[in-house]
Amino acid sequence: MPPGGLRHRAGIATSRRVSKVLGQDGKLIPIAEWTLCYEGYSPRDEGLRETLCTTGNGYFATRGAAPESQADATHYPGTYIAGCYNELQSQVAGGTVTNESLVNAPNWLPLTFAAQDGPWLDLGTMDILGHQLELDVRRGVLTRKLRVRDGQGHITRATSRRFVHMGAAHLAALETTIVPENWSGRLRIRSELDGTVENMGVARYRKLASRHLIPVEARSLDAAVVLLVVDTCQSHIRIAEAARTRLFRNGELVTEAPTLIGKPGRIGHDMVLEVAAADEVTVEKTVAIATSRDHATSDVARAASDWLETAESFDQMLGQHVLAWAHLWGRFQIELKGSKDDQVLPVLRLSTFHLLQTVSPNSMDRDVGIPARGLHGEAYRGHVFWDDMFVFPVLNLHLPELSRSLKAYRYRRLPAARRAAREAGHVGAMYPWQSGSDGREQSALLHLNPKSGRWLPDSTYLQRHVGIAVARSAWQHYQATGDRDFLGQQGAEMILEIARFFASTAAYDRGRDRYAIRGVVGPDEFHTAYPDSPETGIDNNAYTNVMTTWLLLRAAEVLDILPDHRRTELTEKLQVTVSELQRWEHISRRMFVPFHTDGMISQFEGYDNLKELDWEDYYARYGDISRLDRILEAENDSPNRYKVSKQADVLMLFYLLSADELGEIFHRLDYPWDPGSIPATVEYYLARTSNGSTLSALVHAWVLARANRERALDYFVEALRSDIADVQGGTTAEGVHLAAMTGTVDVLQRCFAGLELRDEALWLNPYWPRSLGTLEFSVLYRDHMITLSIADHTVRVTSGPGGFPAVRVGCRGELCDLSPGQTLEFSLGQPAD
Ligand code: BGC
Repeated sequence: MPPGGLRHRAGIATSRRVSKVLGQDGKLIPIAEWTLCYEGYSPRDEGLRETLCTTGNGYFATRGAAPESQADATHYPGTYIAGCYNELQSQVAGGTVTNESLVNAPNWLPLTFAAQDGPWLDLGTMDILGHQLELDVRRGVLTRKLRVRDGQGHITRATSRRFVHMGAAHLAALETTIVPENWSGRLRIRSELDGTVENMGVARYRKLASRHLIPVEARSLDAAVVLLVVDTCQSHIRIAEAARTRLFRNGELVTEAPTLIGKPGRIGHDMVLEVAAADEVTVEKTVAIATSRDHATSDVARAASDWLETAESFDQMLGQHVLAWAHLWGRFQIELKGSKDDQVLPVLRLSTFHLLQTVSPNSMDRDVGIPARGLHGEAYRGHVFWDDMFVFPVLNLHLPELSRSLKAYRYRRLPAARRAAREAGHVGAMYPWQSGSDGREQSALLHLNPKSGRWLPDSTYLQRHVGIAVARSAWQHYQATGDRDFLGQQGAEMILEIARFFASTAAYDRGRDRYAIRGVVGPDEFHTAYPDSPETGIDNNAYTNVMTTWLLLRAAEVLDILPDHRRTELTEKLQVTVSELQRWEHISRRMFVPFHTDGMISQFEGYDNLKELDWEDYYARYGDISRLDRILEAENDSPNRYKVSKQADVLMLFYLLSADELGEIFHRLDYPWDPGSIPATVEYYLARTSNGSTLSALVHAWVLARANRERALDYFVEALRSDIADVQGGTTAEGVHLAAMTGTVDVLQRCFAGLELRDEALWLNPYWPRSLGTLEFSVLYRDHMITLSIADHTVRVTSGPGGFPAVRVGCRGELCDLSPGQTLEFSLGQPAD
């Protein structure tokens, strides 16, 4: 029974019925089909728009900031190159802290103009007669239309188009057509590269050191081309940007030489042109970026200049860029026909778009991970968390080769994880909660509570469960692709070493005859210690302990799957002994899992003794209480004292494991767990979760899908809204929430459509919400490009033509062969709702 005070307040579906319309709460979501379009200029929303209008290609990405803007209270132009981290030290709260951040690289956008002797374009001071920002998600092109009047009455129109080349990783282009409407005379244009930028994108971090770049070189390469070279100050990554600016008047190339301008860390061109009213002046700015992290590169300046030489005209490059996107969309086809909400599909496309701008075929072999906030902003300093576990299942189905390549990011950091385990007094591999350049723990040890203004110790790094996510992603990749080579070369070693670590953290408690894992933090970051305890961490987090059992079972299975020679090589190399395997086996039968007295799974040992929060009171006093941790700390209280969760924790078990799998684990552990208790457990924790993480809505949608489709849809819609509606009130401006974005695509495919890859077959077990119409999507499975069509009572599966062996496809217990070019149809019986 939920305590009286909760009375259906906590949680989304219970607190306020969410309509199935994305633009609820009167907020218009400006998205349709393949376009996100913002009419008008709104300084307040600029940060959000910049993030959502980011253009990128998996090698680098640039926020959708106005080209003429500089970082200030409204604008934040940012360019982030995947894997380009740097470390700085800062003095905070009387001590020194070290933070590694994804570096804001030199801004390649700066492009501005002025009429006669008037001021440079400035939306803050000029009359804005028209402003529109339109992101074409299908083609990856951001278009901006602008009409302004300066203080002297000059009306000028400008249309710019830009893209970051999906087909040529190092290139980007910005084309701007300027039209003087009511004046003739001198049009002044300025185009620059700006290496004086800093990491200032997140207000909470502004007291920390932010200057990562040291200017190295700035010069012109020829009359139209400038080069800027900078170094990151600690990681010594050299970044070169070369920009070519060409001018056309009414379609004719302007040949007058521009004037070179510059100051330390900044270089560009000034151009002056006599124009008549209605002339069309087009500025074509093409940029090439290279870094010392690139393969086959010795001199980055030369590399940038070489890349630039390969760049054709804007339109020719655009053609190749659009083709590369068309190929990607071919892999990620998704249609919803007859959906009651016509914005669901466009938002899913936008989510896929931002995923592919963060990681794409251009990311392959670059030793990069999947940053939780994309390459779209500076929140969480560009670090890689367990969030990649929410992303990989989607990549496995559509771009398995990319998925494999990205896993190498974790494999290469296995030695660092081994070192960390050893330093913590354990064996095996302990992956860091926050990972950056070299696999060291990058979690901040102090964080600022903006509500109280206090810097506080942060023990969320104790989320050891991140290692389970790494192992799970490796296992799932094998499940989805059957790629034994991956398993043998990288996957098995990671799984074994992570299993070894968790086994070494599990201490045998003789009194209980059970193993305990103490001093950790579970997925719910609100609980980092017991009330008033000087020790950090909590004991026996149910999620961690159950998933450790799952992991130990997989480790044993992996050893069975490997071919004999590889198993021998690996076990000899890792010195896995029979007695060690016996211990794993014992732990997998005797792991402790906490339960409330009524048999409900406890989030961790002792959770049941915590106080209930007066949710009504907090809602009444604060409205938005998603970040209860900050609220309580500002009241000199702590969430550690209450049964409150930031996000799904116990419920993650139902998200990752089927009722059958979980039942088998509990049976093996000799706990009398009843799958029939799932609905009550879901209700219990939903009512005590403040949803302070966008991952929550996703997991809640998933766990409700079978039992309560309506509420599952509510949460699905909430997850879709995470960034497009900026549900956390300002965090999207600091970067997208990539796991929530990608996770919505995953919910549709693996949860609602019930697609599972197991036992050497592709299974479909849909719980399809009729209101979403008919889903059509394609997946790549064992060389077959398979198109699936899911409606509320039928499933159709078609394989494209090809000359490869049939695969097995199953639906609700019926299993058939599917050959290339063949279609299978399954009936689901009566519509379920
Ligand atoms: C969540 C974590 C997540 C991190 C990065 C935090 O707010 O609590 O689960 O990994 O954000 O997205």
